[in-house]
Amino acid sequence: MPTQWAQELVEHFRISPRFQEPMKLHTSLRVGGAADIFLQPDSLAELKKAILFAKKYNLPVTVLGGGTNILVSDKGLRGVVIKLGPFFNKITQEADGKLRVKAAVKTSSLVKRAQELGLSGLEFAWGIPGTVGGAVYMNAGAAGGAFSNLLTCVQVVNNEGELEEYAKEKLSFDYRQSVFQGRQLVITECLLQLEPCSPEKIKEKMMALQKKRLCSQPSLPSAGSVFKNPPGNFAGLLIQKAGLKGFAIGDAQVSEVHANFIVNRGNATASDIYQLIQLVSERVKSQFNISLELEIKILGDW
Ligand SMILES: Cc1cc2nc3c(=O)[nH]c(=O)nc-3n(C[C@H](O)[C@H](O)[C@H](O)COP(=O)(O)OP(=O)(O)OC[C@H]3O[C@@H](n4cnc5c(N)ncnc54)[C@H](O)[C@@H]3O)c2cc1C
Repeated sequence: MPTQWAQELVEHFRISPRFQEPMKLHTSLRVGGAADIFLQPDSLAELKKAILFAKKYNLPVTVLGGGTNILVSDKGLRGVVIKLGPFFNKITQEADGKLRVKAAVKTSSLVKRAQELGLSGLEFAWGIPGTVGGAVYMNAGAAGGAFSNLLTCVQVVNNEGELEEYAKEKLSFDYRQSVFQGRQLVITECLLQLEPCSPEKIKEKMMALQKKRLCSQPSLPSAGSVFKNPPGNFAGLLIQKAGLKGFAIGDAQVSEVHANFIVNRGNATASDIYQLIQLVSERVKSQFNISLELEIKILGDW
């Protein structure tokens, strides 16, 4: 990387830019090679600088939340990786049950805060790891709930570094799908509409869901469900029926607890996980003639 780039960046960011940053430190699967340039913008102005820097040198941009739904190649990520800094970790209560939430807030912190404030609607998300930016992008959901049901507005920064608002009529979502996927946008903030309820009742719901989750999900490093459930079916069930529960390539294993999770037993590489994903897809296709669609996002070159 040209030294001129490093100098240009170091001057402009409160949190020092990092070069050749190992992505395995930033992903829940604990795999992934180095990112060329890793920036943690700590204001909207710094975010704009990061985006314009990438544009100036024609570098690809990858946005990272908590890294809990991605598989990053062992070869790492070229260009600029943006992980929002502490400025983007803020929740503000507004009138009539609304919460304004910045994108780097952890989903677990948001759910806890809503519970304390006596605002119901987010209980389903108790136990979903990662950040609110990632949850909006993925339309994260569980137990019949999803972020899309609560969002009334989303603020993004576009590839010109300009702020844009997606009001309700511009927002469209589907199962683990949002209007933000496949676009060069950084989600910076959202507005959620919640309903008043007693904190005790909210806590009860959260605890009941947590109990279910603890029994049905592995504790080893993973990225959650690898595949989306096909219409009228369950990816985990199909994988189990294909005889792949517990099947491993290196230290990447189809979880013994939930067959739609791939876990890292310790020293898996991204390539082990990638090969296992392909093998699972092929087996399910050949046995049931069903093409499984990925839920996790696969990043980098393979
Ligand atoms: C144990 C476990 C359990 C899980 N359970 C669930 C579950 O019940 N339901 C569910 O839906 N998911 C679940 N997940 C998956 C994952 O936690 C969610 O999808 C989560 O919302 C992803 O958030 P993140 O911040 O980690 O996103 P990341 O993994 O960092 O990123 C995911 C995608 O979002 C993009 N992105 C992230 N932040 C931004 C941003 N600010 N602006 C633009 N793009 C952005 C990334 O580029 C990437 O494409 C689980 C994962 C694990 C490990």
